Amino acid sequence: MQKDIDSIIIAIDGHSSCGKSTVARDLAKVLNIAYIDTGAMYRAVTLFALKNNIIKDRKIDEKALKKVIEDIDIRFRSNLSKGKSETFLNGENVEDAIRSLEVSNNVSQVSALGFVRKRLVELQRLMGEKGGVVLDGRDIGTVVFPDADLKIFMTASPEVRARRRYDEMVAKGESPSFDEILKNVKERDEIDSTRSESPLKKAPDAIVLDNSNMTRTEQLDWILDKLAEKGIHFDK
Ligand code: C5P
Repeated sequence: MQKDIDSIIIAIDGHSSCGKSTVARDLAKVLNIAYIDTGAMYRAVTLFALKNNIIKDRKIDEKALKKVIEDIDIRFRSNLSKGKSETFLNGENVEDAIRSLEVSNNVSQVSALGFVRKRLVELQRLMGEKGGVVLDGRDIGTVVFPDADLKIFMTASPEVRARRRYDEMVAKGESPSFDEILKNVKERDEIDSTRSESPLKKAPDAIVLDNSNMTRTEQLDWILDKLAEKGIHFDK
């Protein structure tokens, strides 16, 4: 049966910093569908906790976070001049703030909490249930939308991923330490894959995309081919 692009859900899961959001954004653009960056939502909760002293020295006051979790408002709004959507936390644009190393260093601990996941999964389902959407994260194909029409599991070696993050930060004028980034990438892999709540794992029906040696265009074309193979109709 042919499916229309406006009703489908594409799930992209995988390791930290393997370019999920780049390819998801590219896909959303060429297919003219919505993009939901679920990692940005976990990052926004983490930023909120850091700003409100709910996390101190990498220790989370779980009780305090649980009390306020329902009041944390996260939205995506498109920035037409930048041609991308940005993350807003309680009305404030936090798109850059949520990418800091401080947030990266604390986000895996926050996203391991069951009540945080419950709340964000609820929001993600509300945002995506009508279809015409691509979501990227760790548990989209396994938990959030287990019936997604296309599931991709992305990976690349830790060194390749750390190098990409390093280059990204340098391009933004920052001066990061490569070793610190590599350590963070490996640490997040470990926490994300071994946590008891929705650990990062490949859904049995997900297709693996190792993009260690692929260009941005090659990845996009690879996914578009998979969509076509599934009989999903789209205009490029
Ligand atoms: O994708 P990104 O690296 O921005 O995600 C930040 C963190 O949020 C991940 O390291 C992971 O701990 C968490 N995450 C998650 N489930 C998702 C998306 C992100 O646990 N669906």
